[in-house]
Amino acid sequence: MQIFSIRQISSLKIRWRIVFYYLRDMERRFTTYAQYLRRATGLERVQKISVDAGFTCPNRDGAISTRGCAFCRNDAFTPRYCSGTRDILRQIDEGIAFHARRGRTADGYIAYLQSYSNTYAPVDELARIYARALSHPSVAGLIIGTRPDTVDDEKLDMIADLARHRYVAIEYGIESTCDATLDALGRGHDFAASRRAVEAAASRGIAVGGHFILGLPGEDSASILHGTADIARMPLSSIKLHRLQILRGRLPPEDKHPRYIQRHELSDPLRRRGARQGPLQQRHQGRRQGR
Ligand code: SF4
Repeated sequence: MQIFSIRQISSLKIRWRIVFYYLRDMERRFTTYAQYLRRATGLERVQKISVDAGFTCPNRDGAISTRGCAFCRNDAFTPRYCSGTRDILRQIDEGIAFHARRGRTADGYIAYLQSYSNTYAPVDELARIYARALSHPSVAGLIIGTRPDTVDDEKLDMIADLARHRYVAIEYGIESTCDATLDALGRGHDFAASRRAVEAAASRGIAVGGHFILGLPGEDSASILHGTADIARMPLSSIKLHRLQILRGRLPPEDKHPRYIQRHELSDPLRRRGARQGPLQQRHQGRRQGR
């Protein structure tokens, strides 16, 4: 009988895990973000490191409003090591250590300017901040999270120049394709502004991501499906679907509470999503439902 050492067993386990992930990825009908980053950076394992570069946004500083968007609480998703008053390189070091303590090591890291609007400053200041983040020896690229109405030709040209040498992407908070929803959220821009910003960046060769929230107040299955067609027509490299949250007191009293909205009746096309899942996903879903 063959006896395996612990090292051989763990190496076999790792190989089986790679085969499992490979089969699972083949079965998916979309490219996962991890796969996308692997292709974009050429690195096997990439970890995003959130960085707070000390920006604010026009929906907070009074340029548009001081209330912020109805779903926005930056401290709800900002790791403790992030602080707009701390040096960017120190935040990256602490972010790498933060993930390493949780067993998440990587071949390279992406500095993710996540908090507030990271194009909301003069172009020279932006260039200095982006260059500092990219100067970290473990950083393989940069993601700039921002509002669609805080970019212009000069800023996009500068970012496009960076993107010619490194992986640099812009991720816009688009949230919804429906102007009435954007208005109710207090975004201060319409969907046309998002479309223009996406096209302006993509036409310069910059990878563009769009962030959306599904099931916002007033939206139902029909408007979500309609919005999907609009999203598919935009030159986006990636999309991120955020969890739905609305801050207490931010909806008019006649609107339903988000917890209730989440339970709205799904129309048939959305309810049928299980019918076209692969066997692995169906098995996961069956397990969740106790089958
Ligand atoms: S979501 Fe973005 S634009 Fe809206 S308040 Fe928050 S930081 Fe500002």
